[in-house]
This record gives sequence, structure tokens and C-alpha cells, in this order.
Amino acid sequence: MRFMEQIELGHGASDKKCILILPICGAGPLDSRVGMPYTSFVPGKFVNLKRLMPVMTLVLILSGWLAAEPPEVFVKARSGALPSDMLLVVVRHEDNARPPVGRFGAQPLCFWRVASGTFLSFAGLEQRASGTRSLELEMWGADGAPASWDQEVVIEPRKFPVQRLRVAPRYVEFSQEDEDRAADDVDRLHDIYARRTPGDFISGNFRVPLKGRISAEFGMHRVFNNVPMSPHGGVDIAGRQGAMVAAAQGGIVALADDLFLTGNTVVLDHGCGLFTLYGHLSTILVPVGAVVRRGEILGLVGATGRATGPHLHWGARLGKLSLDPQSLTALNLEAWMRPEPDQ
Ligand SMILES: [Zn+2]
Repeated sequence: MRFMEQIELGHGASDKKCILILPICGAGPLDSRVGMPYTSFVPGKFVNLKRLMPVMTLVLILSGWLAAEPPEVFVKARSGALPSDMLLVVVRHEDNARPPVGRFGAQPLCFWRVASGTFLSFAGLEQRASGTRSLELEMWGADGAPASWDQEVVIEPRKFPVQRLRVAPRYVEFSQEDEDRAADDVDRLHDIYARRTPGDFISGNFRVPLKGRISAEFGMHRVFNNVPMSPHGGVDIAGRQGAMVAAAQGGIVALADDLFLTGNTVVLDHGCGLFTLYGHLSTILVPVGAVVRRGEILGLVGATGRATGPHLHWGARLGKLSLDPQSLTALNLEAWMRPEPDQ
């Protein structure tokens, strides 16, 4: 059950005196769940933005800001902060608080509101991520009072499997024309992945688009006929020809076309730079530009493109990052979409 568990990498809330009076103060003890796999973290801290402005501080106290509740910040992951995984950053603040802004390393975060005073953002780690990654947030309460959050998230080591296969030469030997076509597809996909569509398409937890055995894990280093290939950019789910493939989440159809490697392919734009890809379809059932609901049928399982048999290639992107789709389905977003979330 390791991959279905969700752990908390850091959580804290500073008391309001701490924010107001001390230049930098710890967030107090952090909460990591008992009995979960090993995880480690560095406590986050609030930083006093006004420490050089005592007059402003006095004004803020007199104006009643002292009565405001401090924000809470949570970083959620399925099993530690693993390379290629998507993390969930949660901020709980006052009603009518402005959406936070911030960065996870160099990655800008994109928060959307899911409940009164509750904001979510996705964050991702690249396949070669290691060491720590800083989470920096700026937040504003209902009356505009600022607070900031600074946390180092420790990245856990992850080993990706190696797969050695003997396959027909056509799966590893590409003509110049094939390579040109594949390169055009990559350019086209990168243009799509650069989009930052506003809007809130996330209606609940991510769903697996096809029930079946995982026949190739994400990130697998593949060596075909002793030729090293690029790491596997998604998960392969075995399925019978013609089985229905459902949208993992609500979104807009950003691409519905025949690509060289993944054949008949649908890409969904979920907003805020998050995309999912469904490849090797025998039939595509949605047009570009359509808004689809979570669970809506996008197409049927096939073996189009470079596929040795019928299966679904399911990919996920957060901007430039290729992510393990199984880290999306492991996140419990719905817990935060209720007025009183379970933690
Ligand atoms: Zn695949």
C-alpha cells in the first residue's frame, strides 16, 4: 500500500505574536505522521516582512490585525518528496484572503481557491532531483496583512528500474523522416505545455483512466536491442483493444491527433500548467477545445504509434516537468475541498 499512502512533509503555523514581534521565528513542532515511511523535513518559518518598520507594526496592531488567525501551510506527498512526483501545497488562511504567491525552487506556484480560505497548488520534482528544495510563499489576510513562509523540503532518493528488451528493429531504428516527425511532435507538445490556462477544472481526486495492470512504470530506463532509449515518460496500463479510456481529471482538450511515438493521442489541459496525456488510442472521441469532465471517455485503447501491443500510455506534465501519473492519483485533494478538511 506504500504508493497509496499520503504523507505530510511539513506543517506549521506561527502564532500571531511571533509574526508581529520577532524578526524570524520558528513555526513550532512540525507534524509528521506516525507509522509512515521514512521522511524528513526542515521546519518552515514565518519571516516578518515589517521588521524594519516598527511604526507600521504598531499601526497594524492598533488596526486590529492582532486578532487575525495566522495562515497554515502543508506540503503533501504520497511517500516523501520523491523525484518525478507531484506534491500538493496547501495554504489555509482567513476567509477572503488573497491567493498566495510563491515558488518551489525555481518553479512558480499557481494557487487556486477550493474552499473558504483554502488554497491549493501543485508542485513537481524532476527525475534527477536531489538534496533539498525551498518552498517560499507570500500570503495576505482578509485585511491585506502580509505573512511569508519559508521551508526546505528534503528530496528522498528514488531508484528507477531498468528494462532490457529485444524488439523488432523498427522500434529502435528511425529514418530521418521519422526523427523529423518525432521532433515536430515534441515542439508541438512543448508549445502546449507552456500554456497557463486560467480556470478551475479540478473537481476532486485524480482517477486512473483505465483499470488494468501497470506493464511499464514511469521513469524506467529502457534498453532495447542494447540501445539505450530515453526514460519512460509515463506509465503503461495494459488493456484490451477497444476498452474505454477516461479523463483522469476535468480539463480542456489541448491536443487530439496522431503523433509519431504515441499514435492517436489526447492531451488534457487541467489549468495552472498541469497536463495529462493519453497515448496509443485506437480511436479518439473528443475534439480539440472541448471541455471534459473527470471520468468522461476520451477514446479507446489501441496500439497506434510505436506500441508493441494494445495498452494506454498515460503521461503527466507540470510545465516542463514530466511527472509520474501515479503520484497524482495518490493525492487526496478532496480532503481540502470541504469546509473542514481531514488532515
Ligand atoms: Zn509508455
